Amino acid sequence: MTQHTIKTHILGYPRIGEKRELKFAQEAFWRGESSPEHLQETARRLRAGNWQKQQDAGLSFVTSNDFSLYDHVLDHSVLFGASPKRFSKAPFGAKNISPESAYFAMARGNIEQPAMEMTKWLDTNYHYIVPELNADTVFSLNAHDYLVQLEEARNSGAAVKPVLLGPVSFLYLSKARDISKLDLLPALAKQYAHLLQELHIRQIEWVQIDEPVFALDLDDAWLKAFEHAYACFRNARPKLLLTTYFANTSRYQAFIAALPVDGIHVDLVRAPEQLGPWVNAIPSHWVLSAGVVDGRNIWRNDLDKTIALLEPWAQRLKGRLWLAPSCSLLHTPVTLVHELKLDAEIKSWLAFADEKIHELGIIAKAFNDGVGSVAAELAASRAAVASRTASGRVHSAVVKARIASLDKVNENRRSLFPARQAAQKARLKLPLLPTTTIGSFPQTDDIRSNRAKLKRGEISRKQYDADIRTHITYAIREQESLDLDVLVHGEAERNDMVEFFGEQLAGYAFTENGWVQSYGSRCVKPPVIYGDVYRAEPITVDVARFAQSLSARPVKGMLTGPITMLQWSFVRDDQSRETTAMQLALAIRDEVDDLQKAGIAIIQIDEPALREGLPLQKAAWANYLAWAVRAFRLSASVAHDDTQIHTHMCYAEFNDILPAISAMDADVITIETSRSAMELLDAFGEFDYPNEIGPGVYDIHSPRVPTVAAMQELMYHAVRVVPVERLWVNPDCGLKTRGWTETKLALHNMVNVAKALRKQFAAVQS
Ligand code: GLN
Ligand code: ZN
Repeated sequence: MTQHTIKTHILGYPRIGEKRELKFAQEAFWRGESSPEHLQETARRLRAGNWQKQQDAGLSFVTSNDFSLYDHVLDHSVLFGASPKRFSKAPFGAKNISPESAYFAMARGNIEQPAMEMTKWLDTNYHYIVPELNADTVFSLNAHDYLVQLEEARNSGAAVKPVLLGPVSFLYLSKARDISKLDLLPALAKQYAHLLQELHIRQIEWVQIDEPVFALDLDDAWLKAFEHAYACFRNARPKLLLTTYFANTSRYQAFIAALPVDGIHVDLVRAPEQLGPWVNAIPSHWVLSAGVVDGRNIWRNDLDKTIALLEPWAQRLKGRLWLAPSCSLLHTPVTLVHELKLDAEIKSWLAFADEKIHELGIIAKAFNDGVGSVAAELAASRAAVASRTASGRVHSAVVKARIASLDKVNENRRSLFPARQAAQKARLKLPLLPTTTIGSFPQTDDIRSNRAKLKRGEISRKQYDADIRTHITYAIREQESLDLDVLVHGEAERNDMVEFFGEQLAGYAFTENGWVQSYGSRCVKPPVIYGDVYRAEPITVDVARFAQSLSARPVKGMLTGPITMLQWSFVRDDQSRETTAMQLALAIRDEVDDLQKAGIAIIQIDEPALREGLPLQKAAWANYLAWAVRAFRLSASVAHDDTQIHTHMCYAEFNDILPAISAMDADVITIETSRSAMELLDAFGEFDYPNEIGPGVYDIHSPRVPTVAAMQELMYHAVRVVPVERLWVNPDCGLKTRGWTETKLALHNMVNVAKALRKQFAAVQS
């Protein structure tokens, strides 16, 4: 009997704790308010709690070594002796640095060394610390902490399956200076082999080895790297479960099936169609771990559907079928238990990490003991599915009709850019090289505490709105005295650019504790799009009209674009991302129209997340970019010729999507360029970007006040590659994280740069 039992496990669990305990412990430690022991104690408690939950849910294995004090990829740099040399000495004057402080220094920098680089983990919003390798890197096994965590897990009495990030993915996701990454592989694989031996000695039966790069387009050299690395693991070692996720990996099937491992995990939420091919392809002794519970989203599993998907194959696989979430649960919030304000009906449609591990148990039981043994659970799942399918709150006939007739909405502006440019020139009468900012001004303590007071009911809505107007007035006055040309209201009323709009749109729900780790101690709480999205009434018009009434200069209306709204929310799984994007686009389009009717001459639609929505495989890019660009164009095309549409993007590689950015056809794009030393601007110049562009002339993420000389240098570069009539002068992102003093000094210098350049050009022309 037990022989044929389906096993259950997870790939990883959120580390942050139900109420972000890890965040508070980290930050207290960084402020010097708590000891290393206290931090480690919190970490141990969180791990023990996570294992207990897995045991309580009856999972066949407890998963260990998925925890990290900051980031698991950084932990692998440490584990294999690849901590950058520049951190090996304590900074000058520092005594008795604890191992914890030394570790955090790599992630966050110290007084002498900038932090290691950080980047997004595949297509998620989790950021990992990029391994920093070079020709001098000498890998060595440094397994003490790893083994301590492992033994802790074993003390819980459960069967333990530790996790490792695989050697090829570790290298692929690293950055190597002065050496080809693949040259480092043999030495690295050797250390992995040592660790596996060590685990074998400790009688670990299974190790989960994550190779997420199978979701990407791998060339032959990287495929060969797998062969070479895994060939080192032929000796005595635990069984290896190779995990892939976020994509259909069956195109590498024949290749993977030849690797000396003992099983494969595949993501059946993103790619259910790969199940049959995988069952047919794997060697007869392998297990297949079916990722059937969504690790990237918050919806309750449709158990009938999952059982139907597995049914045809379960019999064939017998005891070789395992069940798991599609990927690590790191990407979902921890528990629904603390969601007391969430509407009961919507809550019944959701499953966070804790609820997801229970779903695994139910699915396994349905196969192991027959569906009759879980009749009540299946009925509850069915009821949730039925209520979600039929709910009037999910479906709006008006929205659906609008989407159905989308083809009749013109996604083109009325005229081509040259005609619009002329109309806007006549209306706005801006000087050469106009100056502006990206939208937000400092979110002062005053602004934050007012928002908190409103939330706690300590001040009235009326009082709050009056305070917001005071902040707007202040921002407008400051910008006028700085002599900026195009003003902003400062976004004092927004805590977050997505949450603010989500709160006013139908179809959105918000959680109280639905936090997901973004990096280190930083967590985000993505809102949930559960239903058809529409805008019931204007969102920003009152504020925009008020701000404009304070100045004779144009004040930009500020909106968040459809793709950024989509990308930074948990989205529906009962319709395509594309359809949700179109609904968001129409809602924003309505707002654009109302703003222009209120006399707002310039409207900015921010799309900082456009690039991060790109699919992992290049073959899927064109389709995504087509609908993403269409969504933006739909929101903007309602604008009259003399309404100027701006967009803003930041922190990404734009070079390879320039045609798509250009197809968005915004009249002006402001973009982050200051960190990449104008490389990006060169790309815009080479591509011959047809509309106006504001290259960010200084990095707002640094408190340093930029010098006139530095900004001038960047603008000189800009005029060499883009005609001066098409250039704007602005910082590279919003100023909400800065203080007013530094902001004023920086903008003062920036305006002076623009003025000096104008004079030079006027002199040349006369
Ligand atoms: N308008 C937003 C701001 O200034 C843009 C933020 C962003 O690019 N992420 O804050
Ligand atoms: Zn930005």
